[in-house]
Amino acid sequence: MFQTLNTPLQTIADKVHASERLTFEDGLYLDETADLHTLGHLANIVRERKNGNFTYYNTNIHLNPTNVCVYRCRFCAFRADLKDEKAYTFDEKMIQDRTMEGRAAGATEIHVVGGLHHKKKFDWYLDVVRTIHETCPEIHVKAWTPVEISWFSFITKKPIRWVLEQMMDAGLGSMPGGGAEIFDPEIRKQLCEHKADSQVWFDVHRTAHELGLRSNATMLYGHIEEARHRIDHLLQLRALQDETGGFQTLIPLAFHPDNTELNYLQKPNGMFDLRMMAVSRLMLDNFDHIKAYWIMLGEQTAQLALSYGADDVDGTVVHELIYHDAGAKTPEGKTVEELHQLIREAGREPIERDTLYRRVIRDGATWNVGEPILA
Ligand code: SF4
Repeated sequence: MFQTLNTPLQTIADKVHASERLTFEDGLYLDETADLHTLGHLANIVRERKNGNFTYYNTNIHLNPTNVCVYRCRFCAFRADLKDEKAYTFDEKMIQDRTMEGRAAGATEIHVVGGLHHKKKFDWYLDVVRTIHETCPEIHVKAWTPVEISWFSFITKKPIRWVLEQMMDAGLGSMPGGGAEIFDPEIRKQLCEHKADSQVWFDVHRTAHELGLRSNATMLYGHIEEARHRIDHLLQLRALQDETGGFQTLIPLAFHPDNTELNYLQKPNGMFDLRMMAVSRLMLDNFDHIKAYWIMLGEQTAQLALSYGADDVDGTVVHELIYHDAGAKTPEGKTVEELHQLIREAGREPIERDTLYRRVIRDGATWNVGEPILA
C-alpha cells in the first residue's frame, strides 16, 4: 500500500499516469520531499512502460589507457602525476592484449576513458582507438568523454567536429557519459574548475549526435551539490535530448569519497541512491534507459534500483579502476552467469544488449547482433 497521495504528489502522480512531462518544481519536490516508496512506485510505472520486465546488460571490458592527468578534479581518486608511483600508461602491446582478453571473454564492447597525459600527443589517443579497432574490429569502441575530446581539440587547435571525425575514422563507435559531474557553474568551479565546462560538454555531445554517434550521460551526485542543481542538471540533459535524440542512457553516479580531496564527506547511502534513480527516471521522459551501475551501487542496491526506475545494470565490466581507486568494495568484474543471477533475483528478465541496445545472439564462442530491442 502506498500513502494517500496529497497535492503536489497527487498532481505529479496524475502527470506520470498521463505521460505528461514534469517541471523543475515537480523534480524538486520529488528529490527533497516525496516519500521514497511512492517515488519508486511512480518511477517503476515509467520504467515498465518503456522497458517492460527487461533488464539489460552487456559483455564488456574496460581500458583506462593512462591515469596520468593534467587536471586535479577534487572528486577524483584515479588520477596521478607524471612521476607518481602509481602512474601508468599503456603501450600498444598492452592495448592489444587487453582487447584480446575482451575478445576471449566474448566482449561486444570496450569502454575507454582515462587521464589527460601531459606529454601524449593527439596521435597517441587516436592510436588507442585504432589499435583496438584493428585488433578486434567486431568489438565496439565506446571511448572518450567530452573532457578528453575538448582536450584533444585544445592540443591540436582543431574544432571538436574534426577531432570526432578523426576518432570515427580510427574506429570510434560511440561515447560514454562521463565528465558531466554537475552542470551548475558554481558547483563545477568548486569541483573541477579547469576542465571542460558544461557548455563544452553539451557542444561535444551535440556534435557527436550530428555526426551520427550515440552517447550516454551521467550525473555525479552526493557531494557538495543540492537538489536544485541535480534537477537543473537533468533538465539540461532533457533539453539536448529533445533537440538531437542522441542519448541512450543516463547513469546516475554516486560520489565515492575515499582517496579524494573530498574524503571528509559521507558516501551517499542506499536510500539516496534509490531516490536518484527514481527522480532521474521520472524527469528524463525522453531517455529510453536509466542505468544502475552495479560496480558503483553495490549489488543489493543495484537489484533494488531495478524497481526504482533503472532497467540496465551495465556489464561484466572487468578491470574497473576508477571507482575502486575511490573505495568501491564491489568486485572488479562479474561473469554473465552472476549478472543473470543478480537480475533474476530482482524479478527481472536479463537481456544481453550490445552498446547500441540491439539484442546479442550467441552461438558458442561467436555472437551476432539482432534488431534493436525497443524497435
Ligand atoms: S576526473 Fe578525469 S579529468 Fe579530472 S582529474 Fe580525474 S582523470 Fe583527470
